Amino acid sequence: MNLLQDLPAQQRRAIDLVREVAQEKDCHPYLVGGPVRDILLGRDTIDIDLTLEKDASTLARALAKRLEGRVRSFPQFLTYKVIAPEFPEIDLATARKERYRKPGALPAVTAGRVKDDLLRRDFSINAIALDLLDGEMHDPTGGAKDIEARLVRVLHDGSFIDDPTRMFRATRLAARLGFTLESHTAGLLRSAIEGDALSTVSKERIWRELFLAMDEHEAPRILAELFGHGALTPLFGRRGSDDLENLVTRLEAIREQLTANPDVDRYVLYTGGLLRGDASPVDFEGSGFSQRRARALVEIANELPRVLEELAAAQDDRDRFRICRRVSPEMLALIAAERPEERESLERFHQYEKFRLPLRGNDLEVPGGPHIAIALEQTREAVFNGAIPPDQARSFARAVAKRLLDEEAR
Ligand code: ATP
Ligand code: MG
Repeated sequence: MNLLQDLPAQQRRAIDLVREVAQEKDCHPYLVGGPVRDILLGRDTIDIDLTLEKDASTLARALAKRLEGRVRSFPQFLTYKVIAPEFPEIDLATARKERYRKPGALPAVTAGRVKDDLLRRDFSINAIALDLLDGEMHDPTGGAKDIEARLVRVLHDGSFIDDPTRMFRATRLAARLGFTLESHTAGLLRSAIEGDALSTVSKERIWRELFLAMDEHEAPRILAELFGHGALTPLFGRRGSDDLENLVTRLEAIREQLTANPDVDRYVLYTGGLLRGDASPVDFEGSGFSQRRARALVEIANELPRVLEELAAAQDDRDRFRICRRVSPEMLALIAAERPEERESLERFHQYEKFRLPLRGNDLEVPGGPHIAIALEQTREAVFNGAIPPDQARSFARAVAKRLLDEEAR
């Protein structure tokens, strides 16, 4: 049980408790999949995934009771989730055997032994179980060896055909862990794509995998590789693009912008980076993007070059700010990603957007009307640019408003 010594305290506490309750209830849980892989790698793991040959619901309920938490059950998958305050989520599943009757479709599921449950999995490194009662490791496919060799390997030649979403999982996991696709596996992936294996998968499922890729820190590399493999062709068709390293660099610049502005929409930005120069609403079929996001994307893809030209031609900040105000925050982030020389003025624009004067229309003591808002805006700009000192804001605004009012009257 030495492996478990290195877990973060919270997870260790959870596993100790699982073991205790399991003994009381005479249940036999195994820790499986992601957490075992991460423990063997010495990486922090968050999820606690358990598999039992029987009594998963008994253990789930007993754990919830002990923790004063609750159980959510997903009967169609024979799985349970135990949720308790200040405790990691614990997933419990009944060991199962799967059979794929039709490529790409969901498999037929029957109850099975732990070994069956490991053999149905995607990669050897995810197919290891740790018996929580006796501490023994079950590794029927040589996963520990592959972890050591840093390889992602499928368990049989039909794996990507049975479930083509595994191609996305393989690319994602390899990049996240800094692993390589084992060479036979890489060959199988290429043939699966060439054989059009993805045609059995809905666009919705492909988008779901794509979003998971975008959530990763290594998103730039993963997206570029998926693109390079042709795994995105079912969504975006075949499009000519620059070479893959250029794409990685472009997406890395986007990641930098996302880190600097966590508020911008990462899915829009990465998709915009992938579709740069050419996008239409059909490209987003199955994504579930709202109209607003789809519009922002079409704008990014189709108008970015023109906006870049306009910015390059702008004479001063006033010109630049006028252009910036017209476009979406995602477009601005993409401009910053692509044009380092624009970053400084974009940063000034963001500051300007946040800049407020403690001055209201009523303070001007001028009859109301549209000229008030214009005067306040001009004043905000003048103070921000340093054209006038802040303590003259009120008199400046008042003068502008009066002048505008006079002009209106004339
Ligand atoms: P993480 O949650 O850190 O991304 P994980 O390995 O836990 O990694 P999950 O998506 O949570 O990944 O899946 C849990 C386990 O279920 C995996 O370790 C794998 O064994 C199995 N699994 C998930 N998806 C598939 C699939 N498409 N085909 C076969 N097995 C799968
Ligand atoms: Mg997981």
